[in-house]
Amino acid sequence: MSDYRIETTCVQGGYTPGSGEPRQIPIVQSTTFKYATSEDMGKLFDLEANGYFYSRLQNPTCDYVAAKIAALEGGTAAMLTSSGQAANFFALFNIASCGDHIVSSSAIYGGTFNLISVTMAKMGIEATFISPNCTEEELDAAFRPNTKAVFGETIANPALSVLDIEKFARAAHTHGVPLIVDNTFPTPVGCRPMEWGADIVTHSTTKYMDGHGVAVGGALVDSGKFDWMSHKEKFPGLCTPDESYHGITYAEKFGLAGAFITKCTAQLMRDFGCTQSPQSAFYLNLGLESLHVRMRRHCENGQAVAEFLAEHPKVAAVSYCGLPGDKYHALAKKYLPNGSCGVVSFELKGGRPAAGVFMSRLQLAAIETHVADARTCCLNPATSTHRQMTDAQLQAAGIPAGLIRMSCGLENAQDLIDDIRQALEAI
Ligand SMILES: *Cc1c(COP(=O)(O)O)cnc(C)c1O
Repeated sequence: MSDYRIETTCVQGGYTPGSGEPRQIPIVQSTTFKYATSEDMGKLFDLEANGYFYSRLQNPTCDYVAAKIAALEGGTAAMLTSSGQAANFFALFNIASCGDHIVSSSAIYGGTFNLISVTMAKMGIEATFISPNCTEEELDAAFRPNTKAVFGETIANPALSVLDIEKFARAAHTHGVPLIVDNTFPTPVGCRPMEWGADIVTHSTTKYMDGHGVAVGGALVDSGKFDWMSHKEKFPGLCTPDESYHGITYAEKFGLAGAFITKCTAQLMRDFGCTQSPQSAFYLNLGLESLHVRMRRHCENGQAVAEFLAEHPKVAAVSYCGLPGDKYHALAKKYLPNGSCGVVSFELKGGRPAAGVFMSRLQLAAIETHVADARTCCLNPATSTHRQMTDAQLQAAGIPAGLIRMSCGLENAQDLIDDIRQALEAI
């Protein structure tokens, strides 16, 4: 499937039925798989043969969908996880362990920030957070001898900053470590980070890939380009024998294309069990089939709403990289030439009270913590996700009390604008 364009891969990638087989991917709703001899099964346990034995590790439905996502990102191997949180944790923990260090962009999803700064810190993995707008020198200075990975988001949720992927990849590679990019917001339809030097891509498939708000899920994709063996001393987990698999060395046995995902499945999925259910994977695949069609409309609606807001007298500021005046417009033109996403954030002039009135008057846009859904939704961080903070603390964190994050769905753009206009008039 790799020779087809992205639209075709969205529809048909990952699964090619034989004659008389189901046209749609089958939901293999089975925890376990039958074998004729214990020797046959033993080969699976030794990673000597490919196959399924227990759905905590691998399941055919999930693998079809993972293969589609690998093809969409231009990677060599992929796996699904139970959530985006699990995908980011696995991507980092597959190569970093106690005593190691991570360099991360500071503009990342709150859940990932917590994962890295609190939970992984408890596991003995330290992190240095650096602004995505840092200079090459500042970025260089964030590395330590025990740094094992660099992490960032193509379009940060909720900051909406655009990552200079080439700058981050250059720094990572100079220091002999991979760049991991969370590509949830643009999806591979908008940007393929591996083409710009990212080594591993992660997703919260809960967002646009699913796109209909039905199933929580995640994915990890390996580019197959990072040469673990040439940095052997940094990555003992990939480059020295794994005693829990009879002394297999992943980077030798599975090569560039397969080592990262095979190790992640064999060790982390085995031990943590953050599996996606086959039923959820089936829903995810339905979302992927229309991803290219939907992303175009999400971007058109985001652009139209952002342009309307930018002209409105009651709006103090709008963040959307598709606007020519936006701080990230130049990076967006380079990395996201076909549009960014449907999420727009803007600050109302009247602060917290204005946000309250505005949100209560909206008819189409629902108040939700979700983003990237077919239905438009919005959130005022000051009264929801960040409600423990004072107005002064919010201002310092770059989240003014009157800030609204709006995720433009697939409705008619004029209907969305009319809804926003009447709600603004009520302030
Ligand atoms: C939502 C989100 C996550 C977390 O994903 P879940 O599926 O909710 O666990 C990670 N990264 C980004 C950019 C997100 O938007």
